[in-house]
Amino acid sequence: MNLHEYQAKEVFSRFGIPVPSGAVARTPAEAVASAERLGGSTWVVKAQIHAGGRGKAGGVEVCRSPDAVGEVAGRLLGKRLKTHQTGPDGLPVHAVWVEQASDIGRELYLSLVVDRARECLSFIASAEGGMEIETVAASDPEKIVTVPLPPDPGVPAYVTRILGGAFRMESPQLSALASLLSGLERCLRESDASLIEINPLIVTRGGVLLALDAKVNLDDNALGRHATLAAMDDPSQRDPAEDEAARAGLNYVALDGEIACMVNGAGLAMATMDLIQLKGGRPANFLDVGGDATAARVTEAFRIFRANPRVRSIFVNIFGGIVRCDLIAEGIIAAFKEVAPGVPVIVQLEGTRAVEGRRMFAESRLPIETASGLARAAERAVRAAGGAA
Ligand code: ADP
Ligand code: MG
Repeated sequence: MNLHEYQAKEVFSRFGIPVPSGAVARTPAEAVASAERLGGSTWVVKAQIHAGGRGKAGGVEVCRSPDAVGEVAGRLLGKRLKTHQTGPDGLPVHAVWVEQASDIGRELYLSLVVDRARECLSFIASAEGGMEIETVAASDPEKIVTVPLPPDPGVPAYVTRILGGAFRMESPQLSALASLLSGLERCLRESDASLIEINPLIVTRGGVLLALDAKVNLDDNALGRHATLAAMDDPSQRDPAEDEAARAGLNYVALDGEIACMVNGAGLAMATMDLIQLKGGRPANFLDVGGDATAARVTEAFRIFRANPRVRSIFVNIFGGIVRCDLIAEGIIAAFKEVAPGVPVIVQLEGTRAVEGRRMFAESRLPIETASGLARAAERAVRAAGGAA
């Protein structure tokens, strides 16, 4: 689960990570009132969506009067904001965060991640943070340092020294950095987060450290232990199909291609998506129907596919190891009768009772194409969607 910047900053405050004063607003009037309450003469209005890249997309604006704050809020609220991190449709803006503008001296990059490759937590840092961090990562990767943490909780002094060096900080700032790093480390552990990113972490002209942006990814499997964090969930930032699929017990991730995939088993689903890509098509989703692909679940999957206007063909790839292919075929035929998908359906069955399954499709006289061989089936699905192959 992702948090909005305003929620992440609230969490940061609890862990003593310094953030600018700000307030969330859901109407332009609230935004104006927030600016007046915060005081000062310059504010920044920031669209709250589950994506970065807002600065370059007009989602972060500096305002020099409360009226201007109201105008920017009015322009952003209720619209969709498209950034290089959102899909082509963008994400809806239901809230803006109004905060005092900071007097930026330098913009740094700092994150703490669960580093699966090293099997530990790692800080990732760069003195060249801000909106161009992706360019820095691509063209000057040596400007980004990774510092793994030892397994015990806490941040050892040597880690602070390494990061302070990478940030080219003077010694008076090192104690502020030490406290920020230990707040970050406690925040990640105690919230069961998998990633916390501060970009930019700024040093103000006055030498103060502040987290100007905040990104937090939480481990969904640990949300049961964090009622307060779980309550921050904002389903409006997800494809509704993902929530529907979760309710039906389907493991579904929306993608932006045109070939809908229904596969049993996550590994086979990944391989199927790779194969589609290899044959020149693009998967519309990842979908693992699980070991017991019942008629109800298959029907639900077909419903989700049909609701997606981008889908041009459906590729069903089932390996009957524990499940029986004839039962799956029965489920698909029943689902097809209830929800006519309206696009070509290509089915690849292999394993237990696959021959019977294929025969059932043939006898059903439904427009379901059975293919033999995974590569050929993928080609058929790609071609049926109007792609290469
Ligand atoms: P995103 O990462 O989505 O583009 P950020 O919160 O990082 O959004 O904001 C983009 C840029 O806007 C920052 O790199 C910074 O230069 C500027 N900015 C953001 N918040 C403030 C602020 N409170 N005061 C001054 N500048 C800000
Ligand atoms: Mg940012």
